[in-house]
Amino acid sequence: MADRRENVVIFPFMAQGHIIPFLALALHIEKTTNYTITFVNTPLNINKLRSSLPPGTSSIRLLEIPFNSSDHGLPPNTENCDAVPYNLVLRLLEASASLRPVFKRLIEGMVDEQGGEQPLCIIGDIFFGWMASVAEELGVFHAVFSGAGGFGLACYYSIWLNLPHREIKDDDDRFLLPDFHEASEIEVSQLPLAMSEANGRDSWSVFHRKHLPEWTKSNGVLFNTVEGFDRTGLTYFERKLNKPVWPIGPILLPIENRKRTSKETEFCKEWLDSKPESSVLFVSFGSMNTISPSQMMELAKALESSNKNFIWVVRPPIGFDINSDFKSDEWLPRGFEERITKSKQGLLVHKWAPQLEILSHKSTSAFLSHCGWNSVLESLSHGVPLLGWPMAAEQFFNVKLLTETIGVCIEVARGKQCDIKYKEMATKIESTMSDCEKGKEMRRKACKVRDIINDAMTDDGSSVKAMAEFFDAARKTMRSGRKRHVS
Ligand code: UDP
Repeated sequence: MADRRENVVIFPFMAQGHIIPFLALALHIEKTTNYTITFVNTPLNINKLRSSLPPGTSSIRLLEIPFNSSDHGLPPNTENCDAVPYNLVLRLLEASASLRPVFKRLIEGMVDEQGGEQPLCIIGDIFFGWMASVAEELGVFHAVFSGAGGFGLACYYSIWLNLPHREIKDDDDRFLLPDFHEASEIEVSQLPLAMSEANGRDSWSVFHRKHLPEWTKSNGVLFNTVEGFDRTGLTYFERKLNKPVWPIGPILLPIENRKRTSKETEFCKEWLDSKPESSVLFVSFGSMNTISPSQMMELAKALESSNKNFIWVVRPPIGFDINSDFKSDEWLPRGFEERITKSKQGLLVHKWAPQLEILSHKSTSAFLSHCGWNSVLESLSHGVPLLGWPMAAEQFFNVKLLTETIGVCIEVARGKQCDIKYKEMATKIESTMSDCEKGKEMRRKACKVRDIINDAMTDDGSSVKAMAEFFDAARKTMRSGRKRHVS
């Protein structure tokens, strides 16, 4: 076991989708090593974390870094993406780059405070390219931690850096990602909307083209993924950055650290207990997405006409206040909720469901998901195949990997503006869940991936080894830094 004093500094971007995987990583490091962890973030985010960290996580120190959102044209007390409308997310990202000098002083201060002992390493966010150059200036080992998978992030990275490499013409347009070793063809409808509309001149593209190249100053990239099914993306980064990558996943937030109420959990569990094995479709689009009113209508019709059991996490559709009460009469087909409740075909859960418990239940057979990477890992860890409806970011490429390479998913829709035809969707649901060849094949492959994941997490499994290699590399850098210091 390592020396207790050695300190791992971690600092995610201020969004729940980033803070949660970093928290999972911190808890994982705390459980598997003797290092102390300094979890850095802005005051409001730290406050929130303070109340959600379980008692007994004494090796995780929460550290606030001052941040005044009003200084950056953001509403007062705005420190997390969940508190800003989408059009201000980029401003929050840009504002976070202003944390550079304060962060640098913080790390320098740690060196003093610990009597010349620098942190063992800094683990930074994919959006914080600047952190790699701070670490380089201070001679501290630095890794980017990607909560996204290898292939998804590789496509994402490549398109941000390379587009526009030619004019994008229409929706049928396809192109090859230019710097992929294995040719990878992308469709325009898989691009982030802002980018395809502005041909790469939008402010998101400008931001990424400025910050992503700074990763080359880092010592490597940690991925929340498993080598056994995500090698292409990992190889892409090894070649592109000429740095090591460490696939250490899946690192999932433990059930006890999740936002959930025991009432909902018990209710879902009882409902699932009453269903036959492998008979339920789980439908959920992550922590923040919702769909349009017309998509919601069609999805409801598809679920009902598929005749399959389902649990559906519903939120007010796009265009309505996300916090308003759900209006079944208005947003769903007439009499839908009463019918599915009476026949016990379906269960509607409002806003938030205990996803990990549902996916681990033996009655769950498939997951209709936006294919955010955590959802993908949680599904595959339990051998559950997916129906993919990617909506944003690298989700389009996650679905590409799952359908074309791994074979555990069918894409049922794409994007937040697509037209849904309920009959088509119902057919895809049926074929995934029934005993037809396609369904059986997907379930067989999903079980195989579950075994790959379990193997990766054994003592000599690939993810455990990758984590050990990462810390070895950090310790080597620390020791060589100390030698320089002494001489
Ligand atoms: N989640 C949950 N219940 C819900 C919705 C989401 O527990 O009703 C959790 C889910 O288990 C996962 C995370 O929220 O851990 C969503 O992460 P993902 O990367 O899939 O998507 P994102 O929310 O970042 O788009």
